[in-house]
Parts: sequence; C-alpha cells; structure tokens
Amino acid sequence: MLLPYFGFVVGTIFGSFLNVCAHRIPIGKSIILPSSHCPGCGANIPWFRNIPIITWLYQKGQAGCCAFSIPLRYWLVEVSVGLVFAYFTYLYSLDLDLISLLARLFFSWIMIVVIVIDYETMLIPDRFSVGGAVLGVLFCFIFPELNEVELTQTWLSHFASGFNSLLGVLIGSSLLYWIGALAHIGFGREALGEGDVKLLGCIGAFCGWKGAIFAIFGGALLGTVLLIPFMIFQKIITKANGHEISDKNLQWGAEVPFGPYLAIGGIVYLGGASELIDSWFDPILWFFDNTSLL
Ligand SMILES: [Zn+2]
Repeated sequence: MLLPYFGFVVGTIFGSFLNVCAHRIPIGKSIILPSSHCPGCGANIPWFRNIPIITWLYQKGQAGCCAFSIPLRYWLVEVSVGLVFAYFTYLYSLDLDLISLLARLFFSWIMIVVIVIDYETMLIPDRFSVGGAVLGVLFCFIFPELNEVELTQTWLSHFASGFNSLLGVLIGSSLLYWIGALAHIGFGREALGEGDVKLLGCIGAFCGWKGAIFAIFGGALLGTVLLIPFMIFQKIITKANGHEISDKNLQWGAEVPFGPYLAIGGIVYLGGASELIDSWFDPILWFFDNTSLL
C-alpha cells in the first residue's frame, strides 16, 4: 500500500508546478522559462529551496533571499494536489484502470489550477476550459474505457464514447448558459460569466452530462454551504479587529467566482460520487424510455 504515498509525493510536485502556472499564465508569462524565481526580488530559487511543502514549512513562509513572505495559498495548493493525487492512486490500487487514473489526475489538476486562477483574477483562461473540453472529447474517443463503453464493434465503441463526452460538453454548457441568462433577467445583473459556461464544457467532457448537471447544482449547494460560515467568520474577525465592515469583505450580493465550486463539483463526481449520483437521473431516463420523445 505504498502507492498512495507515491501519488502524494508526485502530486505535490505537480502542485508546485500548478502554483507557477497560476501565477504566470494570467500575466502572460511563459510557464517554462525562466526557471523558478522569487516573486519578491526576482532571485533564482535553488532546487534545495524549492521542495514542495517542506520548503514553506522549514522557512516558515519566508522567502530565502529577501523579506518576501510566500502566501499560505502556495502551500495549501501543494498539499491539496498531493491529497487528490494520493486519493486517485488509492482508487487505482483498488480497481481503477491506468487510463482512467491518468484522465482523473489530468482533469483534477486542470480543475485546481482553474480554482486558483478564478479565485485570484475572476477569469478562467480558455486554454484550460476550452482546451480541456477538446482534450476530454479526444481522450474519450481514443480510450472508450473512460466511458465504460465496450461494444462488439471496436470502432463503434470509440464513436459512442466520444459522442457521450461531446454530449456532456453541449448539455453542460447550454444548461449553464440558460441558467445564467435567466438569472441575468431575474436579478438584473450578470450572475455567471462566459468563462463558467466554457468551464462546464470541460467538466462535461470528462464527467459526462450527468456529472455536468451535478457540478452545477452540487457546486451551487457547496458554494452556499461553504460561503455562509466564511462570511460569518470574516465578520467576526473584522469586528474583533475594530474595523468597519467594508465592501472588500464578502457579503450578500458580492461578486463571488462560481468557477471554483463548479470545479470542486467535477472532482467530487469523478472521485466516486458518480455511483450515488447517477441513479438520481433514472427518473429522467425512465421518462424518455416510456414516452415517444427523443
Ligand atoms: Zn526574494
């Protein structure tokens, strides 16, 4: 049972790379060159000061070269990616096939980088949302086992699996587009961005249409459940420090990125929740089976 530990270590390295991507991509810098350098003074970071998780703890969140303090977020991202990778490697050690493992690792890495970038900038780069959707459909076409499609004619399996993934993109995106359009009319202001709609395309490509629908409603529920304690906590802290509550603090009606919740919904679905959730859609399927619709 050493595999999940190995998954954790590999995950922290990918988490470290994720931090680089999340920092450089929104400002249009290359993610390969130059090599790691300090965000404070620009000095090169030698490899022994660039060890995921450990460096941050050892240096107590301080840069080694100057007074720059490395945000806790960097450390949290490394731990999170490590834990997600460990979890999926654990599933692999039980009964997941290798292709499904790699697809899940790839998908969750994209989701976490989107969470960080959307949280920081309120934007979701197309290379992750649109790029992820295209790659997801392509993966499912090449590897039908991702959708557990096994038909007697092999070529048909490929098309069935690819089509299922494409259906996920289209149903997910269009449903969220219409929810956004109606919310815009209902509340009189933009509730969802185009980036969210494209992100849901990527989630649908990997999770299928059921997963995409779950990500919307599960994500909204998660957003509500997580946000309320966060807002209360923030109010207490602000009051305790003797500050007035300003517009900068989260409050009802504040603009909150929805992308991170959609992304968490997608990871939860592929992380095993699908077995429970898929049966919720049986009534819909029954409806189509028993009417002359479709
Ligand atoms: Zn520095």
